[in-house]
Amino acid sequence: GPDTAQHDLQIITTDGPRIYADDHSKGNDILLTLVRNSELTDMIDTIERFEKSFNSKYHYQWWFMNDEEFTDEFKEAVELKVSGGARFIRVPTEMWSYPPNIDQKKAAASRENYKKQKINYGSSESYRFMCRFNSGLFYKLPELVDIEYYWRIEPSVHFDCEITYDVFKYMRANKKLYAFNMALQEDIRTIPSLWNATMNFFRQNSQYVASKNNAKFITDDDGSTYNLCHFWSNFEIASLGFYRSQAYEDFFKFLDSEGGFFYERWGDAPVHTLAASYMIPAESLHFVANTGYMHSPNQDCPPDAEIRDVLHCECSPKRDFTWHEWSCVNKFFEVNGYVKPNTMANLKK
Ligand code: GDP
Ligand code: MN
Repeated sequence: GPDTAQHDLQIITTDGPRIYADDHSKGNDILLTLVRNSELTDMIDTIERFEKSFNSKYHYQWWFMNDEEFTDEFKEAVELKVSGGARFIRVPTEMWSYPPNIDQKKAAASRENYKKQKINYGSSESYRFMCRFNSGLFYKLPELVDIEYYWRIEPSVHFDCEITYDVFKYMRANKKLYAFNMALQEDIRTIPSLWNATMNFFRQNSQYVASKNNAKFITDDDGSTYNLCHFWSNFEIASLGFYRSQAYEDFFKFLDSEGGFFYERWGDAPVHTLAASYMIPAESLHFVANTGYMHSPNQDCPPDAEIRDVLHCECSPKRDFTWHEWSCVNKFFEVNGYVKPNTMANLKK
């Protein structure tokens, strides 16, 4: 077989490493970040690191979204650091506010209740606007109309290994629609009614359920309950065509009409995961391995020393969450019958 070139280490699928054919033209793909002016320092840090790990080789444009106007200071500082050009987008108020069906008094009472329970962001109104925006709105921004794939990157994250292949091109060439790296369990208190709502939707809209889907990833009891596993969407590479599909639009509209973004604290991560797991064939999901991704408090760090060496990782494998027993990545591999790539030996099989 072919040599295990560097880039193969990060492409792990059913049959172990695959050869990435570098022959597809670059499409309209972008890096995309939602960020506040106050996060400029963390943003610059993330840009510097991500340019080093990935984008200094590929020069994708990096676009920034904000519910407020970006300051000149923010724009000037960012423009100096990105290698593929920047664009700054103001999110219109309609995309960052209550839809008409929401009873705002009921929403405020719910936030009070969450506050008492000391749940992360439980009392925050803006966090809920953010989660709803990421769930069903950002890809409808007029500025993004020509964008096909996007890579979500948040301020403060870093990639401690080199990313040695063009992930966008890989996704296009292999008809992947959604890519993730870490996966973990959601706090049930933020989504008490999300599973039942989702089940109701797919019972009424069974035409949207893909055959050979990833549903086994999200339930341990044949669909009675949600096992809370979700792709951690602070890292996400996805086809906006998927989000713009009638299927996803109907799903989002249904969830929005239920009010759970405001009466509970539904996150975009479980929403995206439930949608992708039912509506996308499992073979069109892509696990992005060995990036050294870090979003507090969880780190990905390849357990195999040889891989860390080849990819110039600057992380401690003791901190690795991806292959921790609590990580849902294990489950993703098990339900799909994939070989877990813990070791160089597995990779070479
Ligand atoms: P967490 O990852 O769930 O802890 O949430 P974060 O605080 O990291 O928020 C997720 C993303 O949305 C990050 O990219 C934030 O910069 C961004 N974000 C969160 N709230 C706001 C907000 O009110 N305005 C703007 N412009 N961005 C926000
Ligand atoms: Mn975050």
